[in-house]
Amino acid sequence: QEADPAYLLMEQDIAEVLVPRRPDSHKGTHGTIAIVTGSSDMAGAALMAVRGAIRSGAGKVFLRVPKETAGYCIGKEIEAMVHGVGTGDHFTAADAEEILADCRTKRWSVIAMGPGLGVHEETKAFVKAVIAGTTCPIVLDADALNVLTGEREFLAPYGSRLILTPHLAEFSRLSGFSMADIEADPLGKAKEFVRQWHVNLVLKGAPTVIVSAKTCHAYVNPTGNAGMACGGMGDILTGMTASFAVHAGLPDLCSAACAAVYVHGAAGDYCHDEYGSYGFSPVDVADAVPRVIRRLE
Ligand code: AMP
Ligand code: MG
Repeated sequence: QEADPAYLLMEQDIAEVLVPRRPDSHKGTHGTIAIVTGSSDMAGAALMAVRGAIRSGAGKVFLRVPKETAGYCIGKEIEAMVHGVGTGDHFTAADAEEILADCRTKRWSVIAMGPGLGVHEETKAFVKAVIAGTTCPIVLDADALNVLTGEREFLAPYGSRLILTPHLAEFSRLSGFSMADIEADPLGKAKEFVRQWHVNLVLKGAPTVIVSAKTCHAYVNPTGNAGMACGGMGDILTGMTASFAVHAGLPDLCSAACAAVYVHGAAGDYCHDEYGSYGFSPVDVADAVPRVIRRLE
């Protein structure tokens, strides 16, 4: 039924994204990543996204969290510049303006939203206003997708500069496809969604598949293992994907997504070699990323 086959990613494909850093490069060369996410109950998810970005070679990382979450976050990932936005424990539509002004003045290269964001009704308006109000590439994960349940048509005009990274349940909520249909044919359902809504899609699982907004071609990731089946693992990938968007060259979001997924899984495999399949943490995986990249360089 599916005529053109999926492509199995290889190490060589990823090495092409990770071009050598120029000897005269500076932090501005390697991108300004904004992680705009979190809420008081799930600040750790935001911090893990930051860790993923830092360990993937980002030039600068900004973390923007709701005001009441900032106290907890400051000093936890010391490389990041942290600022609390608004007044509450979750983002609301009124906070979008401050984020968009920040994006313009600080020249953010890419934004990532979703881990630990929460699903308040006001947060939905916030997410939509940020997507609509900037021309920045945006990685949307977790609750940034959950708040868009029933609103997938909103994404279509912005699709080519978006990377969506749902796991199967998040994809089911967003797409309206049943879990059974997705599990029976993840690749087919991922492509069907992209053909309709023109986004770059990372459907996370074992294996993860990536579909390009531009070509609708599908890529299958060979790395990763069951030791990665634990909370927070996807949040690391969110930050990594934002960093890799800069390395790949910003219009090339599908290559960035493929490279981030491959390296994330390979870092998981590194941890598996080190620890076995029980108990390595998302932070261990993030911290293994530079070693994996060194091998690919
Ligand atoms: P999330 O559910 O958002 O925390 O994302 C989980 C991450 O871990 C995704 O990148 C998955 O591909 C990866 N992962 C989880 N379980 C496995 C598994 N059994 N094999 C390979 N990768 C996995
Ligand atoms: Mg997740």
